[in-house]
Amino acid sequence: MAETAVTWLGHSAFRIDTPGGKRIYVDPWLENPNCPEEERTPERVDLIALTHGHDDHVGQTVGLAQRFGCPVLGVVELRGWLSTQGLPEEMTEAANKGGTVETHGVKVTFTDAKHSSSTFQDGSFLYLGEPAGIVLEVESGTKIYFAGDTCVFGDMQLIGRIYRPDVAVLPIGGHYTMDPREAAVALELLGVGRCIPCHYGTFPLLAGTPDECRSFLTTACEIVAPEPGGTVTV
Ligand SMILES: [Zn+2]
Repeated sequence: MAETAVTWLGHSAFRIDTPGGKRIYVDPWLENPNCPEEERTPERVDLIALTHGHDDHVGQTVGLAQRFGCPVLGVVELRGWLSTQGLPEEMTEAANKGGTVETHGVKVTFTDAKHSSSTFQDGSFLYLGEPAGIVLEVESGTKIYFAGDTCVFGDMQLIGRIYRPDVAVLPIGGHYTMDPREAAVALELLGVGRCIPCHYGTFPLLAGTPDECRSFLTTACEIVAPEPGGTVTV
């Protein structure tokens, strides 16, 4: 079966082209400053999966889902809120941590993540459920773990043990999420052999770099850091 193509669109936005021909977007903030111009207006979207409700992750979800009529998977509160923002109410697209949702031939599992999840509306923060990570299993059985925004936490070991991801997509920018030192420990806990870093370089505040991450590594792990628009095959 063909390989899975994981394309970094800057910040935490990814396009995944599966062996079965599906085009999946994770956290499609396509207006982020590093998203290549030609990636800002997708020609096709089959599925969107969201880690949490912050603007820099929800991004253009509503407009894309309306345009392509594609499902949007998110935790219950976030998915419920999106149905007040123009998406149809769809219980099958609202999930929570620990179970696996099968849709369009792929499997999506929400994992734990340590962060927050809200949107600023009418002068205050509206709670959008707990933030999550995502394990995406494509038709070939390849598994990609998107940590979402999180610090490192010990239960990443459980994610490694249960799902055995082929690649881990980790935030490394620091300030709001793991920095390179924490990301290196996360890779040890996950026991994963490959990492695609994200959530860095978007703004000066997100200062962590792939090289710093490499300098902290304690295990054999390849850190593959494409430029925005670059693709890693898994
Ligand atoms: Zn973020």
